Amino acid sequence: SPPSGVVTRFAPSPTGFLHIGGARTALFNWLYARHTGGKFLVRVEDTDRERSTEAAVAAIFEGLDWLGLKSDDEVVFQYSRADRHRAVVEEMLAAGRAYRCWMTVEELAAAREAARAGGPALRSPWRDAPPPNDPSLPHVIRFKGPTEGTTLVDDLVKGPVTFNNADLDDLVLLRADGAPTYNLAVVVDDHDMGVTHVIRGDDHLNNAARQTLIYQANGWTLPAFGHIPLIHGPDGAKLSKRHGAQAVGEFADMGYIPEGMRNYLARLGWGHGDDEVFSDEQAIAWFDVKDVVKAPARLDWAKLNFINGQH
Ligand code: GLU
Repeated sequence: SPPSGVVTRFAPSPTGFLHIGGARTALFNWLYARHTGGKFLVRVEDTDRERSTEAAVAAIFEGLDWLGLKSDDEVVFQYSRADRHRAVVEEMLAAGRAYRCWMTVEELAAAREAARAGGPALRSPWRDAPPPNDPSLPHVIRFKGPTEGTTLVDDLVKGPVTFNNADLDDLVLLRADGAPTYNLAVVVDDHDMGVTHVIRGDDHLNNAARQTLIYQANGWTLPAFGHIPLIHGPDGAKLSKRHGAQAVGEFADMGYIPEGMRNYLARLGWGHGDDEVFSDEQAIAWFDVKDVVKAPARLDWAKLNFINGQH
């Protein structure tokens, strides 16, 4: 029987429209929550103030609403939680799990160059040094990561993936202006929202190792991770404009219907035997993250048209 108390989430960055990759991620989270009798949450990751726009927030919700994927609780806007993110970093500093770093732009460039040339991952000289004479000089706060051993991400889709801690640099948690970074904010929010299953694109697999270390440093329970392969165009190349529509809104404008789109998106990287056409009830009954296939899915217009026509 499926696990109980499941909480999933869709956490888009509002930097553009809702594309079908994001829509499928949202759908898989929604299906898994419905399958387990759990909750599906939406969090807008608007922490990056430069790249986030109101228009993108509106476009994302337009797409989600059209698809019928609604958050079971009030939508969380990540930027509104920045004080909480900073408070967690203060606790990590006090516990010796984070440190202040006054590296200059030149020092950083040299350290990055060394890491690129095959050297060790970035560890700031401030990791174990006393603060400078003037500690009020601009500085960031970094995670004090383990330098030895390994970190396991036991992924529901990919299987066990092991990372060498020596390869994971001491990532920035708070920028010089006090802004939290993505990896920190995601962990704090997922923890506070009680997220049990993080289902997202596999472009975040490396982040899962870093995030695992942040969970452990705080003594928090890890969520289960499921990293789903990206969607490719019909030719197997990374999805791009030349493959045609990508925004959910474009599919709506072309006359596709939400039921057909949900069915088709569910078939992108997941399936139930040879069944092509199924209802929401069937998808909910059958869906499990661990059945998502490891290879990238391919967009197939003929199949989309066929499935849409059956609804
Ligand atoms: N906001 C991230 C993105 O849109 C996703 C973060 C996550 O799912 O952990 O790529």
